[in-house]
Amino acid sequence: MGELISPARLRAVLGKHHLSLRKKLGQNFLVDGNIVRKIVAAGNLTPEDVVVEIGPGAGMLTAAVAAAAGRVVAVELDRALLPVLAETLAGYDNVLVVQGDALEVDFDRLVEEAVGAPVREYKVMANLPYYITTPLIMRLLRGGFHITEMVLMVQLEVAARMAARPGTGDYGALSVAVQYYGRPEVLFRVPRTVFFPAPGVDSAVVRLIRRGKPAVTVEDEDLFFTLVRGAFGQRRKTLANALAGAKVMPGWTRAAWEELIRAAGIDPRCRGETLGMQEFASLARAVSIRKN
Ligand code: SAM
Repeated sequence: MGELISPARLRAVLGKHHLSLRKKLGQNFLVDGNIVRKIVAAGNLTPEDVVVEIGPGAGMLTAAVAAAAGRVVAVELDRALLPVLAETLAGYDNVLVVQGDALEVDFDRLVEEAVGAPVREYKVMANLPYYITTPLIMRLLRGGFHITEMVLMVQLEVAARMAARPGTGDYGALSVAVQYYGRPEVLFRVPRTVFFPAPGVDSAVVRLIRRGKPAVTVEDEDLFFTLVRGAFGQRRKTLANALAGAKVMPGWTRAAWEELIRAAGIDPRCRGETLGMQEFASLARAVSIRKN
């Protein structure tokens, strides 16, 4: 796999298959062996591990993961890359490459097919296609899959949002969702120069360990996340104005929201971005009670 990881080698493999990279699909491939090794190390892989990789591209990360893990399922959307992957992963008999859309496939089922039995836990490792980072992370978290840990390369700014604390400019709906389900840790920054072609921004690798149970107790998760989205929808507005404006509850006026927010023990004049997880949970509880 070492020889694959250079811009010249990547160009040669793509040229042989008459391929050019598709920007629209977020195809910025890793061409730096050190970064690949650091990502694999972050996964703390053993031969017991089953790993799903999203977007294997030309297979540089896939090969390194396959060398350290027991079994790998790699889901690639771009059909044109399948012959490239067949060539670059020819030496690995523990990799199943699946053509599919990571926003749609059932990861648990693919893992079960690859292993031949239901699997209670597996990891996700990916250099994510940037055009769908947020919906993909939300799906990995909320899709009910048996994922225990993820090591994800994302844009630097997304990494900051994933790990942001209340009251900071980066804190938003993604921070709440990620921290509700897991414990994110921004591991290291990755300069844009290690990709071919180089994207316009730097990246970072984030490890996200899933919590045994969510950070706060919430009866109605859909309501909780609707409130979170509403609160951050118009960041400059007060919480009451934002929730009334977002029409989170049809017909509820700003005055009704103010009263309810106060009843939940929160100052209705604060902004959504100051609310911690517990406060969003209290708010969801108060709304549930009022609704019923
Ligand atoms: N893993 C490779 C690497 O690190 O060099 C490639 C990473 S590249 C940033 C993202 C990959 O995701 C591309 O191969 C792209 O074709 C693929 N991709 C884009 N959208 C996808 C989707 N919806 N489902 C699965 N793969 C997708």
